[in-house]
Amino acid sequence: MTPPSGEVRTLFSEAEISTRVDQIARDVADRIGADLLVVAILKGSFVFTADLIRALHRAGVRPQIDFMQLASYGMGTESSGQIEVIRDLTDPVEGRDVLLVDDILDSGRTLSFARDRLLRTGARRVQLCVLLDKQARRVQQVDADFVGFECPDEFIVGYGLDHANFYRELPFIGVLEDPPRV
Ligand code: 5GP
Ligand code: MG
Repeated sequence: MTPPSGEVRTLFSEAEISTRVDQIARDVADRIGADLLVVAILKGSFVFTADLIRALHRAGVRPQIDFMQLASYGMGTESSGQIEVIRDLTDPVEGRDVLLVDDILDSGRTLSFARDRLLRTGARRVQLCVLLDKQARRVQQVDADFVGFECPDEFIVGYGLDHANFYRELPFIGVLEDPPRV
């Protein structure tokens, strides 16, 4: 596959991200119990989660980690609200204190689906941690407990976020100028 040629404008630099991730980890350490299960929603949150758990370590937290891959179906970049579990957790969540991590809180459908599912399967508490919050686009009422950055209503790539599975390797968060309509 040939990588797309769109320009990426930096929104948050590597240094800004690193500072913010350390702050979030300290907040989490202050507000969460000792027994923590981090659940990362794949694929977009894998870079953020990798940095966050090492920052949690520096903040004195010893979490366990699990992953859940979700897909939402719909037309173009707008999700329809139909969420499907592509890959499920492997650890039991009964009675666990869960930190649910995602890349972007957009319409809110993905995180509200994942949170409800974790609670239904017995999690004691689920707190939401997102790298980016696109407040303007909320369809479902969901507030994150921990937010990296407020995010403009633009198409974001880098630091794990993709367009057509490209750009995830960028070490910074950027806006993809003129993203092709999918
Ligand atoms: P929600 O269910 O909150 O509408 O969707 C959240 C998901 O949509 C995110 O986990 C992410 O995968 C995707 N998403 C929303 N906005 C963007 C964006 O600007 N860039 C990328 N790459 N993905 C996005
Ligand atoms: Mg995602």
